[in-house]
Amino acid sequence: MTTTRYANILKPLHLGFTTIKNRVVMGSMHTGLEDRFYNYPKLAAYFGERAKGGVGLLITGGISPNRQGWLLPAGGTMNTLGDIAPHRLVTHAVHKHGAKILLQILHAGRYGYQPFVVSASPIKSPISPFKPRQLSEKQILATIQDYVKTASLAKKAGYDGVEIMGSEGYLINQFLSRHVNQRNDRWGGSIENRMRFAVEIVKAIRAEIGEKFIICFRLSLLDLVHDGNTMQEVITVAKALEKAGITLLNTGIGWHEARIPTIVTSVPRAAFVEYTAEVKKNVTVPVIASNRINMPDTAEEILASGQADMVQMARPLLADAFWVNKTATNRVDEINTCIACNQACLDHTFKNQRATCLVNPRAGYETELVYVKTKKPKRIAVVGGGVAGMSAATVAAGRGHEVTLFEATNDVGGQFNLAKVVPGKEEFHETIRYFKVQIEKTGVELRLNTKVNREQLEREGFDEVIVATGVVPRALKIAGSDAPQVLSYTEVLNGASVGDRVAVIGAGGIGFDVSEFLLKPPLQPQPMPVEEWKREWGVDPNPNYVTEGGMQPAEVEAPVREIYLLQRKTTPLGAGLGKTTGWVHRAQLKKHGVRMLRGVQYKSVTDEGLWIEVDGHDQLLRVDTIVVCAGQESVKEIMPVEGQKTIAKYHIIGGAKLAAELDAKRAIREGAELAARL
Ligand code: NAP
Ligand code: SF4
Repeated sequence: MTTTRYANILKPLHLGFTTIKNRVVMGSMHTGLEDRFYNYPKLAAYFGERAKGGVGLLITGGISPNRQGWLLPAGGTMNTLGDIAPHRLVTHAVHKHGAKILLQILHAGRYGYQPFVVSASPIKSPISPFKPRQLSEKQILATIQDYVKTASLAKKAGYDGVEIMGSEGYLINQFLSRHVNQRNDRWGGSIENRMRFAVEIVKAIRAEIGEKFIICFRLSLLDLVHDGNTMQEVITVAKALEKAGITLLNTGIGWHEARIPTIVTSVPRAAFVEYTAEVKKNVTVPVIASNRINMPDTAEEILASGQADMVQMARPLLADAFWVNKTATNRVDEINTCIACNQACLDHTFKNQRATCLVNPRAGYETELVYVKTKKPKRIAVVGGGVAGMSAATVAAGRGHEVTLFEATNDVGGQFNLAKVVPGKEEFHETIRYFKVQIEKTGVELRLNTKVNREQLEREGFDEVIVATGVVPRALKIAGSDAPQVLSYTEVLNGASVGDRVAVIGAGGIGFDVSEFLLKPPLQPQPMPVEEWKREWGVDPNPNYVTEGGMQPAEVEAPVREIYLLQRKTTPLGAGLGKTTGWVHRAQLKKHGVRMLRGVQYKSVTDEGLWIEVDGHDQLLRVDTIVVCAGQESVKEIMPVEGQKTIAKYHIIGGAKLAAELDAKRAIREGAELAARL
């Protein structure tokens, strides 16, 4: 049944020479598959699945127009006829399902991790080790011709158009903004000069390829860097691009080097849509909104209110390839929501690994992780209703097995029930909701409040038992650590009373989360209102901002507690957190005055507080509460010992298998991979 509740999302967009079947754009995202021709069958399956899932317009990961533009050494490039063939697999896979696809042309400029980098001016970026060479007039003209060549090859490969990447601090953005462009020739100085490079690229592509070809331009609407553009400058560029011949205008928010988060989970949904709406008032081409749009209600509201003509999502479509079809058929509760954790997508890209998704391990692995209906249904017991267990149970049941899921507590969700109460992690609710719906839809028999042992499992005659019994927090073992003021992180996140002065022991992901949780009073509005979030991070809330790059001084609310965050290692605290999210957590704690100590030895807990030793000196931290976030230990008593005879075949996954690096990404993947094999 097709829904009218999301009529604006599902409305076709007529562009004159072509029509996009709905308003959903799958935004460009580097998967790592686009850099090697032999991975294109996998890339085609990845895009094909999303086209099948109903997406109207898809955009590839960034492809460079030349060697200087590579993001990584030998990155995906399109500048010879030989580059076309693998791309045909992709365009064919998408067109088969009635969707359109654009090739994104991305020249990294000074963001390239390779020695050939060039830019508007020779200013090194803080996120790449290579200082760029300044492009000469002749080289600029040659680069424009490289863009044209890539666009015409894209057309030959069957693409419906190109997206020109002009935001996020890449080469074109480097020309557009004084932050990097310090030239005094006709390519620098006034905004008219700074935008010449972008405008000439669009004009040249349009002149070469003609009218019946989509040219989408992704423009930075909010630079969030010093010397960044003002909204009036952004509008000047948008109007000039429209005149030069673009078909669609896409939103970019924040340079990669910006120290204000723009896509992590603590950024409120649709936080930047007002800037898109401001630009839209000034142009007639359709405008695409972007950033932290992950569910249909948010998307529909943006479109219905006229703030944008299309909505762009990248990660939410990794998380659920069938997002659009589920929206169209009133199955929104079945959407596997992107929780904006970045752990398996962007963090992988930065480590040169293939991007996938924490909540959907099939993303990027469509040809390798396949859930085939079983011909031999088995009776499977899954013990433990955390994410590992729910992943295994729902995939196995979806394949036709008869699955019983045992959970000792009164609810499923495991560690995600703790994560979801941390300020800024409200999205974790969605994963639990998704799995609960899947448990129901796939017919898993859920037995809550049921702590089973091996004898019971054997008695019930299961064929396979999947042990997903998870972890318990590791206890602190020093003198006085059994005192009542010593709490585990689970007790604290479950609402135990905590004093005004706190020492947090262990500075892994959970130590950081718990510190953030303790900085704020309990019962925070969930999630944080956008205006408050902008004040806290120093984002100018005026859509017609005149501040540099849309930044203003941050206003930090006084924390409700004094917190020490401690670790034994001597490395900087938080060094092991995700590349794209760790800096946000570190900045939050620093801003709120959390004192971070490393190289700490824990001595004892007394009525006075916590005794520690740092650099050979004993110190007393006068704290009321000590919260232990010292990692976890596996729970796996149900597993038979090696060689023990059992009726059922036993498997172990997730935290129960390995508590070190307890990791939801691994837990969900292990559950899915095992269930796909049984
Ligand atoms: P973790 O990352 O392993 O951190 C625990 C910390 O406790 C260690 O860094 C260790 O540091 C310390 N520790 C270990 N044994 C100790 C002992 N016996 N006494 C005192 N300190 C000890 O584990 P976690 O923080 O519990 O996080 C678990 C997993 O959850 C992470 O790996 C991550 O995948 C996930 N997670 C991630 C995030 C995020 O990225 N934002 C947030 C939450 C959870 P020292 O030995 O140096 O003191
Ligand atoms: Fe979203 Fe996390 Fe999946 Fe990335 S890994 S797509 S951020 S849920």
